[in-house]
Formats: sequence, structure tokens, C-alpha cells
Amino acid sequence: MTLKCKNLIIGAGISGLTLAAASDDYLIIEKENEAGGYCRTIKKNGFVWDYAGHFFHFKTDRFRKRFIESAKPGEFVDRVKSTYIYYKGRLIDYPFQKNIHELDKEEFIDCLYDLFDKTEKEKYGNFLDMLYGKFGRSITEKFLRPYNEKLYAVDLSKLDENAMGRFFPYADIKDIVLNMKKGDNSSYNSTFLYPKDGAEFIIDKLLEEVRRDRIVFKATVERVDLERRTAHLSNGDDVEYENVINTAPFDVFLRMTGNRDLCRLADVLTYNKVLVFNLGFNKKSSFDSQHWLYFPDKDINFYRVGFYDNILGHDRLSMYIEIGYPKDAAVTEGEIKRQLESTLENLRRVGITDDTFVLEDYVSILMDPAYIHIDAEHDGEVRRTMAKLEESGAYSIGRYGAWTYCSMEDCMIEAEALGERLAKCGGGIK
Ligand SMILES: Cc1cc2nc3c(=O)[nH]c(=O)nc-3n(C[C@H](O)[C@H](O)[C@H](O)COP(=O)(O)OP(=O)(O)OC[C@H]3O[C@@H](n4cnc5c(N)ncnc54)[C@H](O)[C@@H]3O)c2cc1C
Repeated sequence: MTLKCKNLIIGAGISGLTLAAASDDYLIIEKENEAGGYCRTIKKNGFVWDYAGHFFHFKTDRFRKRFIESAKPGEFVDRVKSTYIYYKGRLIDYPFQKNIHELDKEEFIDCLYDLFDKTEKEKYGNFLDMLYGKFGRSITEKFLRPYNEKLYAVDLSKLDENAMGRFFPYADIKDIVLNMKKGDNSSYNSTFLYPKDGAEFIIDKLLEEVRRDRIVFKATVERVDLERRTAHLSNGDDVEYENVINTAPFDVFLRMTGNRDLCRLADVLTYNKVLVFNLGFNKKSSFDSQHWLYFPDKDINFYRVGFYDNILGHDRLSMYIEIGYPKDAAVTEGEIKRQLESTLENLRRVGITDDTFVLEDYVSILMDPAYIHIDAEHDGEVRRTMAKLEESGAYSIGRYGAWTYCSMEDCMIEAEALGERLAKCGGGIK
């Protein structure tokens, strides 16, 4: 069968749905049997779990209002972030670089000395160079380097100096010294909102604005013919479109075109994968107020854990655990089993649980990709390629489509802006 639409949207995650909600002639193709992408929620045995913690740090009133005002009282919890670093057996306020005064005296002096002794540059060669240049050796080697190596699962000198954009908690000497006098750990996510039924709440709201008969589930877009403006689906159907808007990972989209140069670019793009364990226990932990914790110690398998129960006010320990892997790592069933054992052992070791805790339920999720590697060598080519693709009516948006580091709100802003742009050039979007 051949289907027709003006705007073919690949993926029913938050980006694809936002775009569809602003469109009048669209067809969404989604490879899973439900919408939401990474913004989905799993409910099991009374536990509410996302695909890793998905919190809302709205920077615009527009999207805050769109969701909050349509919510019933109590549907969202509003929290002032409580986050720490588990460092040598104790908790240090996050971010590390602004809280070195909480370290033991000797370590504090080392960090302070190196902070004043560092050599700043106008431009840094890469992310690792930026860490040493802006924060000095001790802060970098005690936290910033090991933590980010665990997260990104890559040599940090392969990443661009701005790989984390506005999500990196920069601080200069003045901020750091002032913070010793009066704590101010504010950041882009100092406060956050979370729906009590999980992040999927937002997806359900978006779905109210999207026609269900315009979403094809359990079908993968396998090939896109940029010249003829047609796509071939795994269920055998073809789609004729005017614009194709991709929200699948950019490398996956490039391969769909079958174009040799585009496939070559796809081959050099790298990212990490994150194995997430959502764990539900029989009772509360003595860690009963923290929202999430960072673990730079390489002897501990996870880099970050979060406490849904503390965020939602539940009476049983309910956590997400994140473990980083390189792009090519084989995360087999055996590996997942080993990591679960190691996670449970490390949770006991750091005192979050003990032998009296019973794991009542759990799920594991592999986020593949999770954090893309933005590297100076290829980012220019990625941006030029995206601009060139637009000449063929092909747009690539969202965290993975646009190959960037961004939040759910950023995805919605971008999707809506594209809707407006396409409408102006008669692309059929309202
Ligand atoms: C560990 C982790 C924690 C995060 N925490 C937060 C947070 O706290 N707050 C926040 O704002 N953001 C967070 N994010 C970011 C957030 O997950 C993303 O910004 C957002 O979900 C991306 O949405 P999307 O629609 O662009 O992509 P996706 O959610 O990836 O959606 C893409 C969709 O395309 C579908 N698809 C893929 N290939 C095909 C194909 N060939 N054919 C058809 N369909 C296809 C997929 O099944 C999927 O449904 C986090 C991300 C990670 C990895």
C-alpha cells in the first residue's frame, strides 16, 4: 500500500508528537507499539519508574503553562533539587567544583592551590583540556574527569570543549570562593517538576492533541529516497511525502538514505549507551531526602543514582541506577545480570541499603544511544549535512535527530519552531 502525507514524522517521542500537535497533515511512523520514546513510564508493583529519571526544568513559561495549567492539583510535585556527590564515603554538595571547602583540609588546599595555579586559555582543544584549564588538576582528577569518563564511556579528549553546552555547571574562582561563604549551588536545574504518575504524563497530554489514526505503530522506516521523497516501511508499505521529519538517531537516519557519503558520516558518529536499572525495595533507606547522587569512584559500577521515593514522597525505596557503556559494547543478558549483582552489592557498600532490604521488583532498560559524543572534528560536518538535507525536504530534530545534548523542553521548542518554519514555506503545517 502507498500512503500519502505532507509531513512524514519518524518517531512518536516527545519531538515527533510536539511537531504533529502543531501540524494538520502528517503521518507518524513509530517502531515501538506505544508512543513516548525515552519519555515513557513503567508502573510495576506500586513503583513508578521512567527510562532513567526524567525531570522537567522548564526554562520557558510557554511549555510550563501548557502542561501545568492543564494538570489537576497534586498531579505534579515541585522540588528544590537536593543532589550530592558520594566522595570517599561521604556526601559533598553538587557541583563538586563549587563545594571543595566541604572536602578534608588537605584535599581542599590541593584543589584551591590548583584552581589558582591553572592556565586558562581563550579556546580549549577539547573537553578534557577545558576541565584542566578552567578548574585545575585536583578538581579535574578528583571528580570531573573520573565522573565524566564513567558517564560518557569515552576518552574525554575526543569530546568538544562545549560538549555539554549549558548543562555543564561552569564556575569561576569568584563563584567558588563566594560559595564557601554562602552556599549557592543554583544551576539550570535548581528546581524541577515531576508528574506523580511519571514523565509519560506529558506524552499523554501531547497525545490528546494528535490524531491516533495518523500514527502507525510497530512499523520502522527502513529506507528514505530523498530524491523521490518516498519512504519504505518494515510492514511493506510505502509513503509519499513532501517533508520528512526525522526524530530517530541521526546516524540511523543517514543510513536510511543509502547514500554512500551519508553512510560514511554515520559510521564516524559515536555516543554512549546507558544501562538503567529501576529498583524497588521493601522499605525506605536512611538516604531519605536526596533526589540524586553522583559517583566518581571507578570501583563503583554506576555513575549516578536517583530516588523516586524521595521525589514523590513514597514509603519504599524506589531508585534508578545509570551505568555508562561505549557505543560498541555488547550489553548481553549475562552482562546485565552481572551488573545487577554488582549494583546491589555497591548499594550495600555505600549504605543506601543493607542485608535487611528486599528487592521487590526491578526492570532494566538499555538506552542506546543515551549521550551523544559531540566532537569538534565531526560537528561541523553534521551541521552542514543537516542544512543540505533540508534542500530535499528532510529535517532532523530532537535530542538524537539533531545530534545534540538537550532536554525534553528543548525538543518541544525545536519541534514547534520547525512547525512554524514549515508552515511559512507552505509545508502544510498549521
Ligand atoms: C539517561 C538520560 C536521562 C535523561 N534525563 C532527562 C531529564 O531529566 N530531563 C529532560 O528534560 N531530559 C532528559 N533526558 C533527555 C530526554 O530523554 C530526551 O531529550 C527526549 O526524550 C528526546 O525525545 P525525542 O522525541 O527527540 O527522541 P526519542 O525519545 O528517542 O524518540 C524517538 C522515537 O523514534 C522512534 N524510532 C527510532 N527509529 C525509528 C525508525 N527507523 N522508524 C520509526 N520510528 C523510529 C523511537 O522508537 C522513539 O519512539 C535524558 C536522557 C537520558 C539518556
